[in-house]
Amino acid sequence: MQRFVVGRVSQEKHFLQWRRSLSQLVQNKASLQENDLLLPKMPPFDYSPPPYNGPSAADILQKRKQYLSPSLFCFYNQPVNIVDGKMQYLFDEKGRRYLDAFGGIATVNCGHCHPDVVEVIVKQINRLQHSTVLYLNHAIADFAEALASKMPGDLKVVFFTNSGTEANELAMMMARLYTGCNDIISLRNAYHGNAAGTMGATAQRVWKFNVVQTGVHHAINPDPYRGMFGSDGEKYARDVQDLIDFGTSGHVAGFISEAIQGVGGIVELAPGYLPAVYSSIKKAGGLFIADEVQCGFARTGSHFWGFESQGVVPDIVTMAKGIGNGIPLGAVVTTPEIAEVLTRRNYFNTFGGNPVCTSAGHAVLKVIEKEKLQENANVVGSYLKERLLSLKDKYEIIGDVRGRGLMLGVEFVTDRKLKTPANVEILHVMDQMKEMGVLVGKGGFYGNVFRITPPLCFTKEDAGKIYSSRTLTMVATSNILSQITFLIY
Ligand code: PMP
Repeated sequence: MQRFVVGRVSQEKHFLQWRRSLSQLVQNKASLQENDLLLPKMPPFDYSPPPYNGPSAADILQKRKQYLSPSLFCFYNQPVNIVDGKMQYLFDEKGRRYLDAFGGIATVNCGHCHPDVVEVIVKQINRLQHSTVLYLNHAIADFAEALASKMPGDLKVVFFTNSGTEANELAMMMARLYTGCNDIISLRNAYHGNAAGTMGATAQRVWKFNVVQTGVHHAINPDPYRGMFGSDGEKYARDVQDLIDFGTSGHVAGFISEAIQGVGGIVELAPGYLPAVYSSIKKAGGLFIADEVQCGFARTGSHFWGFESQGVVPDIVTMAKGIGNGIPLGAVVTTPEIAEVLTRRNYFNTFGGNPVCTSAGHAVLKVIEKEKLQENANVVGSYLKERLLSLKDKYEIIGDVRGRGLMLGVEFVTDRKLKTPANVEILHVMDQMKEMGVLVGKGGFYGNVFRITPPLCFTKEDAGKIYSSRTLTMVATSNILSQITFLIY
């Protein structure tokens, strides 16, 4: 109780300081804007979107309120109306350019409207948009072959879906069919989807409705920042063995996790965790499902797939988001032996594997390779992370900087010792960053983590040039907001 009160008082104190520095910034901005000192300059970019003649942001908002689900929400006090996109930039209805540091939620890996991907989509859509997988078409087979070539071991059979949720639903069902067991273990703080089975695997109360969700046990999250065992992956893994021993018959269908939790706030699983869990799961007869919806497709820089950083080979890999650069597409890849379980009945998905989406996916793989996007994510991501870490040394409000490649998280706290989430402050920073032309994501259980997941064409040169030419201004304003904004440019 005492701790809570102290935490709250210090939170309020920090908040007031924060508000003061923000209002100072806003005042400064007006004067500094004139001589172009404070506001970072967008890197030059040779593209102007066509004029926009559509409805205003206010009209769209009104229509959304009237006709769309009341559960839909927007980022920002004044929601931004995005009408065009090109590579790592987005444009609003007035043609204002924003740096997209969220990438449509870790999705637009090649860059918005990448010409190679667009060309393939347009060509295919003009030729054949949809028939059915009951007829032959080369696109699905060619992409499956290309995707299988990116997988390790015996992971060579592909099923296409339309989303990450569908992919995880299918993966969990296959694990249950293959093993004849129902119990699945997932991690606390996980997000795996929002249908009947995947909502069970998801483990954050804000994403869980009070409906029947059975057969999933949630293990202690191997979170190096907030977890009880710090970065000791093997200690966390013992909880999985405990769940098997005390919560199941001793046999399980499998274990599902991301290598870096995206929605959970860019939490990279403690090193050594997955190999230790694998051995428990294998002994219990279960399969390992790697959810690569966010961290796959070169995003983590060091590897093409997130699980590779822990040196494990899963039995089933699920993917979506980055696979199609924005086209609705998901996939499950597994071994021929496990894939066989679906022949026990009919498994069918009307749109899964349609020619447009699969040819887009194929184009994405080619772009990642041709433009060395994995290498770029590694170089630019490491550079940015290093800079963000140096901000952490300077600013108490930054509790943690983490992640890999271009999947980075910055956790805001009002008290470093108590790790009190600065979830109010982060909203202000986020809003101000938008005003300064940078769009970042936000997440984590407490909603206090910046999620930096830009298109992988994000350049170090842009960041470097802007950073060095503005250093003095940054020091002069001594303001974390402008510093983060500069860094992300
Ligand atoms: N898995 C992970 C790791 C995700 O981040 C998401 C979406 N945020 C999903 C699954 C579900 O994907 P979708 O929204 O395409 O159904």
